[in-house]
Amino acid sequence: MIIDLRSDTVTQPTTGMLQAILNAKVGDDVYKEDPSANKLEQKLAEMFSMDAALFFPTGSMANQAAIKMLTQPGEQLITDKWAHVYNYEGGGVSFNSGVSCKLLDGNRGMITAKQVEENINPPDFYHSPLTSLVCLENTTNKGGGACYDFSEIEKIRTVCNSHGLGLHLDGARIWNALVAKKEDPKTYGKVFDTISVCLSKGLGTPLGSVLLGKKDIMKKAMRVRKVLGGGMRQIGFMAAAGIYALDNHLERLAEDHKKAAEIAETLSQQSYIKMVEPTETNIVIFYLSQAVSEEKFMDDLLQKNIRISSMGQGKLRIVTHLDYTNQMHETFLGVLKNYSK
Ligand SMILES: *Cc1c(COP(=O)(O)O)cnc(C)c1O
Repeated sequence: MIIDLRSDTVTQPTTGMLQAILNAKVGDDVYKEDPSANKLEQKLAEMFSMDAALFFPTGSMANQAAIKMLTQPGEQLITDKWAHVYNYEGGGVSFNSGVSCKLLDGNRGMITAKQVEENINPPDFYHSPLTSLVCLENTTNKGGGACYDFSEIEKIRTVCNSHGLGLHLDGARIWNALVAKKEDPKTYGKVFDTISVCLSKGLGTPLGSVLLGKKDIMKKAMRVRKVLGGGMRQIGFMAAAGIYALDNHLERLAEDHKKAAEIAETLSQQSYIKMVEPTETNIVIFYLSQAVSEEKFMDDLLQKNIRISSMGQGKLRIVTHLDYTNQMHETFLGVLKNYSK
């Protein structure tokens, strides 16, 4: 038995999901003739109260397409220093859109309306890049699954409105925020110009993300996706997995959150742990005490068939998910309690 806690992307499709894939009605999506893809897009657009939606192979491509549609080359976007769009998309912001990032020193990956307002370059000052977009992440990845307070997002929207800026949400793990904070996705659709959501993280599909947006912006999305090499054919097999996941795997995220909280609680009681970040959803970030080497700790866990990941600067990450069973959880908590360096 391997206990893989590196990411919520390591899951295998469930039997029910495989059945949904087998039964999917498909067509050529480049002609927009894939009934399952169309159905998933419509379902998500309605769920978030957005005008339109488009299926993408990855979350990175969906984010990059949004940034491309909401900016012009030479402009600048504002985001947190830990943002996925800046750190983990291969430099795509500059490569694809010719845009620079103004990185803010946020709290666990989250920024405030005040910080945004203070960092908008004056539009008349032609020496500086023109600020045109704000990108938020919810939940935050490097910030340890932290959830925004929705009222702060609304304040950021107000700042964007008064300065004519676009607002994009990297909602790869928006599902975890919706479940943890019992929020209505429609409220998100009201404040963002575009939202990307992942089907392949907590929801457990083999691949797929969806970009949601307002009509005028999404009109361009098919072309941008094509330019990025993301025009696909019978993607209904994966869209059907997405529909199945939304119907069957959304509410159960609460179980992942409960397990993550129990792991955080257990870790915080161990002498070899320096600090555990607040754990709100399915990600636990913690630091070892000085006396314990990160390499040895990870290696000792590996000897027991337990895999976790390192995010650099002493930051270790555990992510709970669909394939992390109750039995694995008992075993893992036991290992943590009995660990000695
Ligand atoms: C996983 C993730 C993405 C998308 O990643 P892909 O691997 O390209 O699907 C985007 N943003 C965040 C915060 C993520 O965690």
